Amino acid sequence: MSNFMELRETLTKSLLTIKGSTYTSGKSEILFRCPYCGDSKKHSTSKHFYVKIPHVEGDLPVYYCHLCNTKGVLSSKTLNAWLDERFDAPQLLNSYVKKASKLAKNRQYANTKVYRLQVPIPNMNDPYTFKKIEYLNNRLGINLTVEDILRFKIIVNLYDLLNLNKVDKLSGSKNYTDLIDEDCIGFLSRDNAYVNFRNTGNRINKRYVMYNIFGVWDNSRAFYIMRSDVDIMNGPVNIHITEGGITLMGVYHHITKQSPGIYAASIGTGFEGTIRYFLKNGLFDAVFHIYPDMDKGMDERSYFEKLKKNIGEYRFLYPIKIIQNHYPGEKDFGITPDKMKPNYYEI
Ligand SMILES: [Zn+2]
Repeated sequence: MSNFMELRETLTKSLLTIKGSTYTSGKSEILFRCPYCGDSKKHSTSKHFYVKIPHVEGDLPVYYCHLCNTKGVLSSKTLNAWLDERFDAPQLLNSYVKKASKLAKNRQYANTKVYRLQVPIPNMNDPYTFKKIEYLNNRLGINLTVEDILRFKIIVNLYDLLNLNKVDKLSGSKNYTDLIDEDCIGFLSRDNAYVNFRNTGNRINKRYVMYNIFGVWDNSRAFYIMRSDVDIMNGPVNIHITEGGITLMGVYHHITKQSPGIYAASIGTGFEGTIRYFLKNGLFDAVFHIYPDMDKGMDERSYFEKLKKNIGEYRFLYPIKIIQNHYPGEKDFGITPDKMKPNYYEI
């Protein structure tokens, strides 16, 4: 069997293990409930999330939600986030995607642009604004100023962002966008193409919502970087990487006490992808500090082995430190300082 046929077969088989998944009528796509927006709350069986199975060699496997407009090109990392068991042909998929992405016919899926966007000043007359800023302040034990909000590219009201930047087209339905605007507070991505929102209400099924501002397919730069003063002339730059934006704020305020450095949240890109981004962009002398979440039932030793393998060659070139919160019952640093018990490793 050719690699392509094998890929099609394993991909299809794996996707069909997802709860409630079905083929679309032409069998060219597999359909299930959206893992990103939680899909329709009103209709517990309706499905809006499509994954396109490559039909001929060179077709990219892409996914798309008709409700929240989350979309992207499939990778094994993305796939593993949906599956109960790990996808068993990661190399096959990733090398296929890498090759197919270079084809002219797939040009529409590449996003190399950094969008120009202005961060709106939070509108304090909006009844939801105060509530959302308080959510962050209380959760982290901090006191955000308007200046902080602009500097950290925090988006308090989605519609203000869209209006200020004259983005007319909504990514999802009007109703869904209203809920994001009212209940969510988030961080604008590195390329200004996404907002990674934390849901502070209970009207959307998910805790996190990724808002795709321009409807791009490529989410490889959807991670977040916090602006901070760095002096590259004086010794190594400390680069702090967490999984999410709120944890990053906690690290910045309570662990490093706002010390100079680069602060990034990998947001679905993975630590490896984020580290690779910094190295590709001409890095210098750096020390990486990464802050993985303590997941339930996590076997730390095997996790570190996996991380070492993924980060591979980089760890021989740059010191990589791992810091986790060992405070009982807490999984990350997105909390008040009294619940932080940092534990340090070096790999
Ligand atoms: Zn969705």
